Amino acid sequence: MPRPEQTRVIVVANQKGGVGKTTTTVNLAASLALHGGRVLVIDLDPQGNASTALGIDHHAEVPSIYDVLVDSKPLSDVVQPVPDVEGLFCAPATIDLAGAEIELVSLVARESRLERAIQAYEQPLDYILIDCPPSLGLLTVNALVAGAEVLIPIQCEYYALEGLGQLLRNVDLVRGHLNPKLHVSTILLTMYDGRTRLASQVADEVRSHFGSEVLRTSIPRSVRISEAPSYGQTVLTYDPGSSGALSYLEAAREIALRGVSVHYNSQHAHALP
Ligand code: ADP
Ligand code: MG
Repeated sequence: MPRPEQTRVIVVANQKGGVGKTTTTVNLAASLALHGGRVLVIDLDPQGNASTALGIDHHAEVPSIYDVLVDSKPLSDVVQPVPDVEGLFCAPATIDLAGAEIELVSLVARESRLERAIQAYEQPLDYILIDCPPSLGLLTVNALVAGAEVLIPIQCEYYALEGLGQLLRNVDLVRGHLNPKLHVSTILLTMYDGRTRLASQVADEVRSHFGSEVLRTSIPRSVRISEAPSYGQTVLTYDPGSSGALSYLEAAREIALRGVSVHYNSQHAHALP
């Protein structure tokens, strides 16, 4: 597997909840680590689901990404190694992150606090994956300013494309004003059920709209994927031979092989609701 020359910072975003952002973040991160990369997951959702899924303690007293964003604590003070997966690390979120959306408003450089923290972080990393909350507020803006690539998971369901136009316009705004290197690099179809016509219709629609940004691999709907977090594990350690584990490994391989070569075309934003 090729390792990137520089750290690739990938923002996993979609303001819709329940589309597979967190599941994708943790399972792709574990896959990239199993392929030999050094990977940091930054949990930017106050729910802390990514932290839970990685088996990382995140009760209220644990040093967390809140302290980094609001109190300028160094990222290295909050990063924890993920048990059982070599090369995988997590900056956890605690519930106080819910207040950060408001507290950030009055702070200097409120949009670029995460970017600064990442730039000051000295441990060598191949990938940073940022799990965003289901909103387009300041937490997500901090992620979009810190990253170069946006990965959008799309659930193969009714209304799959609804609201995506708003996300893409936000990406354009952040690119125009704050972060010229930002682009949508990757679309991943999740919870794909090949037996239903709806899933294949949605997949066709997404592929015709986005083209080459869509990964060839889609993630099947799988009970093993949804069970793993309750054991504090990714599906890669919970059931390594399952279709869910294999699909995330394959998606990670595609991402590693593509590098940053696919470039986002802002025209996508126009035709979407
Ligand atoms: P988001 O972070 O976008 O809110 P999640 O990753 O938490 O979405 O996923 C929402 C729910 O769907 C969770 O209960 C998760 O376990 C489940 N889920 C996600 N991906 C799959 C999948 N491929 N197969 C089955 N269940 C899934
Ligand atoms: Mg989530």
